[in-house]
Amino acid sequence: MPSGREITGTRRGGGTNKKNAFCSFCRKSYRDVGPLVEGPGDVYICGECIELCQSILEQERRRRGTKKQLFTKIPTPREIVEALDEYVIGQDYAKRVLAVAVHSHYKRLVAGEEDSDVEIDKSNILLVGPTGCGKTLLARTLARSLNVPFAIGDATTLTEAGYVGEDVENLLLKLLHAADFDLEAAQRGVLYIDEIDKIGKTSQNVSITRDVSGEGVQQALLKMLEGTVANVPPQGGRKHPEQQYIQMDTTNILFVCGGTFVGLDKIIAKRLGQRTIGFNQQQEMAGEVEQAELLAQVTSDDLMEFGLIPELIGRVPVLAPLAPLHTEALMRVLREPKNALTKQYQRLFSMEDADLHFTDGALRAIAQRAQNQETGARGLRAIIENAMMEIMFELPEQGPGHTYEVTEDVIEGRAEMIPVPRAQNKSA
Ligand code: ADP
Repeated sequence: MPSGREITGTRRGGGTNKKNAFCSFCRKSYRDVGPLVEGPGDVYICGECIELCQSILEQERRRRGTKKQLFTKIPTPREIVEALDEYVIGQDYAKRVLAVAVHSHYKRLVAGEEDSDVEIDKSNILLVGPTGCGKTLLARTLARSLNVPFAIGDATTLTEAGYVGEDVENLLLKLLHAADFDLEAAQRGVLYIDEIDKIGKTSQNVSITRDVSGEGVQQALLKMLEGTVANVPPQGGRKHPEQQYIQMDTTNILFVCGGTFVGLDKIIAKRLGQRTIGFNQQQEMAGEVEQAELLAQVTSDDLMEFGLIPELIGRVPVLAPLAPLHTEALMRVLREPKNALTKQYQRLFSMEDADLHFTDGALRAIAQRAQNQETGARGLRAIIENAMMEIMFELPEQGPGHTYEVTEDVIEGRAEMIPVPRAQNKSA
């Protein structure tokens, strides 16, 4: 058995080898846990408890550090917009709305720390816009620039406990995962909930006997948005009674909801007394511009008319409409963001010591194809990948020092990409 004398004493106390001493914290005896450190007045602590104390203090220090960091430097709305600009093309109005809401949200957290009679209400955000226009990207980029945990959930997968699908609490679990189970951090995170426009519409329900995605889910979701202490099952999945829940407070979580709200533009047009049909020759273009203009005027009444339940509308008071991306914007998406698709390919090529260049015609062709698919920027990746497949297959065997040019013909499948030695290319 190790002797207590091995321990060098602290200034206040020292090691002990009193055989009948026990740890004042865990009550285990010297015989079980080995040497104890003695404090003044018959107080002892064992190695295990010292380790535990250390980790508690460390956690607390970290928590204060991040809190201080967050609170001493809440980015201004302008700074937030600048950070969003690095990754998201266009959507200027939505960016400004988002930036102001987020700035206020984190100010509200600071205010919550101070004693005040005025409680600032929570401002969850609703992003309205067609598929692939950057809703998820905005929320994700926002979380990244604020350095807070971020998770994505889908409102349509939610069902009442006991049915196939997800519990509302599992959304919170995702956030907890994203925060590496740092509860404090998760409770200040951003949770994006997609397809919120499908909530409350139970007509497409697969179950004919019971409305499993209806009332119960809505209530749970509403509570979460408003701020509640939820019981999150750490193992995920269904609630098992033997699982110990993690109590997660959603008061300071920023919820960003998103939805495509198909047909909402018609509702807005009707309210404004406008016709939705384009009347000039470029009907399609006119229709698109009009749709963006109409969406920009969305109000909560329109959302109510659309079928979103009023309680939900009340809990996401900040409305940020996004415009569909037309060809020019899609070309910018291909070229400009920090991690733009063309930059990613150029990086892959440079790893083989090869240069890659996209002509304007190629970018336009890709953008137009994506636009025809009506999947917004979401379709861009598949189109490029398809066009690049063959050359990506050959590239590692082509040897270094080549230049490749992606042209409109390559995208349209009318020509193949031919490697040109770099020097020859320069002299040409
Ligand atoms: P949704 O609006 O359906 O949530 P996403 O944000 O998921 O669309 O966009 C899908 C992909 O398309 C993103 O990962 C991003 O690469 C690209 N994208 C969409 N909109 C933009 C945009 N405005 N700027 C830059 N990239 C975009």
